[in-house]
Formats: sequence, structure tokens, C-alpha cells
Amino acid sequence: MSYRQDFHIHTTFSPDAESRPEEVLRAAEAQGLCEIMITDHCDCDNGCAIPAPLEAWPRLDLKQYTEKIESLRSMTDIRVGVGIELGEADQMPEYSAEVLSFYDWDYVIGSFHNPKGKIDYYYTDYTALDLRTVFDEYFEGVYRLAVDNRFDVLGHLYYLVRYIYRQGLTADLSGYRGKIEEILRVLVRNGKGIEVNTSCLKDRFGGLIPGYDVIKMFKDCGGEIITVGSDAHTPERVGEGFDEALEAIREAGFTALASFEKRNPVFRDI
Ligand SMILES: [Zn+2]
Ligand SMILES: [Zn+2]
Repeated sequence: MSYRQDFHIHTTFSPDAESRPEEVLRAAEAQGLCEIMITDHCDCDNGCAIPAPLEAWPRLDLKQYTEKIESLRSMTDIRVGVGIELGEADQMPEYSAEVLSFYDWDYVIGSFHNPKGKIDYYYTDYTALDLRTVFDEYFEGVYRLAVDNRFDVLGHLYYLVRYIYRQGLTADLSGYRGKIEEILRVLVRNGKGIEVNTSCLKDRFGGLIPGYDVIKMFKDCGGEIITVGSDAHTPERVGEGFDEALEAIREAGFTALASFEKRNPVFRDI
């Protein structure tokens, strides 16, 4: 059977996810996946990302987490990687260094969920804001994260469109092609990749993040490392949208997806 992966999956080790690790395994088997990466949240939150009266997320217990995910390997034929979704690594360099050196991770997604000192994009009320200011700040934040370079692939580029569309608004990113290209060129120079995140396909936004034009731009910039992730927070969504993502990736000219072993890319033909 052809190669299928899901390299962005959350379990109950993430405060916003509902899937027990074993349930993720069963779902991945049912979806015919060959490899998965469990990538629970490890956000270098500066204490402002979750607005009051909600409570700040506790820090991920790295020992418990890595032991549990490692233990899944004996329960399945699927290759299970121990990964992490590291948020805002550049905003808390000491903490992120501690997390990265704690364990010999297979895979690190670099994500940007909140500008320094501001609330998470999930909680933002976009109806009250000038979206140009929001995107200027967003892409600047992603650029800084890319330059900081403490990850293997850049997670869900421009994912905040998910929340913007949910609030009944639309977003035009055509003015940001130059900034996006600048970010992609940093990734290529650093030997890093992007993930194609399928979590918005069934959402009001209805597309891959990033979409085909950015996937193609990455290829044209010399990018080679590309992965697919569902960002599933429930077992039913594991593997969701893989075929749509694969079609766009092939169409853009890629002939392989990246896999990772101890953070080194290895290529799987598609
Ligand atoms: Zn994320
Ligand atoms: Zn995620």
C-alpha cells in the first residue's frame, strides 16, 4: 500500500485534546497510516496567552509524556514517533532549550500561537481588529520563529484564518506573498521544512494550510522537506485530509514526503 503519514496529532497530554494515546493508535490503524508522530503541545507561553478567567495551561510533563508515547510502539505495527509541537520557542529561549535537550525527539513542529505578551490567536476577537495589523504582526512573528530555527518543520502557516472565518470574516493574503516567500527562504536556507496541515479542510475556511500556491512557492524556493499533519485533537480526525494534501504536494512537484528519525529527515516516495 502507498505511504501514508499523519505527523501532527494531539493526545490528552494536550489540555485542548480528547484522544487517549491508545485511541490515536487504533484510529491511525483504521486509517491505514504507515507512520504517525504524536506532537503534543509544549507552548513557551509567557503567561498571557490564555485570557482570564481561564487558567493558564500547565507545562507538559516531559517525562510522563515521552515514556507514554514510547510505550505505544509495542502495541502496533505503525511507526510511532515521539514528537512535540513547540510553540513560540523564540519568545522563551531558555525554556525551549530545556525542552529540546530533555529528550532525543524524533520530530519538532515549530508553531506560532501568540505574539509576545498577547493572547493566543484562538481567543482573539477579530471582528474588533484591523486584519492588516493582525497579519503584519503574525507574519513578523513567524519570521522571527523561522530565524530562531529550533524546529524541524514550520507548523500550520497562517492557521489563524481558521478563527477569522469562524467569526464570519474573510482574509485576503495576496498582499503577503513577499513576506511568505521571505519566511520560506529562511526555512530552505536552514534545511527546514513545512507541514501541510489539513485541519481546516472541513472548517468554514475549507482549505489546506498552507494552500497549494505556498506549497508550490516552497518547492520553487528549493524546499524539499514537506510533511502532512491533521492536527487532530480527537481520534476521529486522525489521518483526515491526507489524500487532498498529497494531491497538492504532488501537483507542486514533490516526489517524496519527509519522515524523521531523531530529527533527521528521511524521504518516503509518494
Ligand atoms: Zn498549533
Ligand atoms: Zn497542533
